[in-house]
Amino acid sequence: MGMFQEIIKYGNHEEVLYCHDPEVGLKAIIALHNTALGPALGGTRMWNYASEEEALVDVLRLSKGMTYKAAAAGLNLGGGKAVIIGDPKKDKSEGLFRAFGHFVNSLNGKYITAEDVGTCEQDMEYIFMETPWVTGIPKDFGGSGDPSPYTAHGVLMGIKASVNEKFKTDSLKGLRIAVQGLGNVGSNLVHYLIEEGAEVMIADIDPDKIKNLKSKFPSLIEKKVDEILFTDCDILAPCALGGVVNDQSIMKIKAKIICGGANNQLLESRHGNALQELGILYAPDYVVNAGGLMNVFVELEGYSPQRAFDKTRKVYDNLTKVFEIAKRDQIGTHIAADRLAESRIQTIGKLKQRHPGKSNRSFTTLKEIYNR
Ligand code: NAD
Repeated sequence: MGMFQEIIKYGNHEEVLYCHDPEVGLKAIIALHNTALGPALGGTRMWNYASEEEALVDVLRLSKGMTYKAAAAGLNLGGGKAVIIGDPKKDKSEGLFRAFGHFVNSLNGKYITAEDVGTCEQDMEYIFMETPWVTGIPKDFGGSGDPSPYTAHGVLMGIKASVNEKFKTDSLKGLRIAVQGLGNVGSNLVHYLIEEGAEVMIADIDPDKIKNLKSKFPSLIEKKVDEILFTDCDILAPCALGGVVNDQSIMKIKAKIICGGANNQLLESRHGNALQELGILYAPDYVVNAGGLMNVFVELEGYSPQRAFDKTRKVYDNLTKVFEIAKRDQIGTHIAADRLAESRIQTIGKLKQRHPGKSNRSFTTLKEIYNR
């Protein structure tokens, strides 16, 4: 398939930039999906792609996902993403990331980057040496640091909104919640759930993660890795991998609500329809796990941890809107989330065309803050 057909197929992207610097071995692609709401923000993934085509498809798919996530979160951000082709264990260098920073800079703030799979704070620091358009840099530089506690707090808000929708209460006291994956997001979520008085069941492929959390919270109930998805519980919170709702798992899920932090929980969109038919309330992942993005957004305005934390409460309202659209239009919640995002892009996008400049406020960049 030709390059332009790929772009049309994966979402009619506004701009795709190929970045090549043979001196430092840089081959990267930056994709800007949609900037109707604001600059395109999305992380830089470094991955050993089997082919350049695979890298292109990945960046097109991921950048479109960012557009929907930012729009449904109510943020003035568009969707973008970058991929660097290479092995993050072997191919990283200062030169590579600084050269990449030059390409990011050439977009003049239309694209803002951040960490993603295969990149870390140190890489962001190198990019920051060449461009102000980067987030996720260390706290000492005015950055926001690890987004996971904010993501987890957003997930807690999502669980509360889902419980309200299903059981008509905001209290999690005594509810049985199964958390799959106790990494950055899952372990923070467990803290919050215990504080709320829930009965929490946990599983992780890493026994140390279980041991750590159980030493802090002895009431946690350990489940086997292959049991956790099918545990008899009120809420299933996937916080590990994508694709957990699939043909093999769906009929065995006993939870009444699925609401967790993991990305791409539905293997395919049809699995969202199937959950609706089964009467299981699905809280769309990208609405639920937007707390990390909200945190980064606050970084762009001049970071305040309290403001970031407060912002994550919005996940409750956003998800409630999704549930309302699903009921109004008699559709699955996964489709309702897309409608919420698309309607905001259309309405605000048109408003910006009618009133150019007014809603185009520029961000205080981190470099400006740092140089003050
Ligand atoms: P992480 O790598 O810190 O944690 C993942 C955990 O899942 C690990 O402890 C791992 O051992 C465990 N795991 C892997 N496979 C498992 C399995 N089959 N069963 C049980 N446990 C398993 O990652 P994270 O940052 O906590 O992110 C978790 C999910 O949330 C990912 O899907 C990520 O894309 C998504 N997410 C994270 C953030 C964030 O702020 N970190 C933001 C948005 C979305």
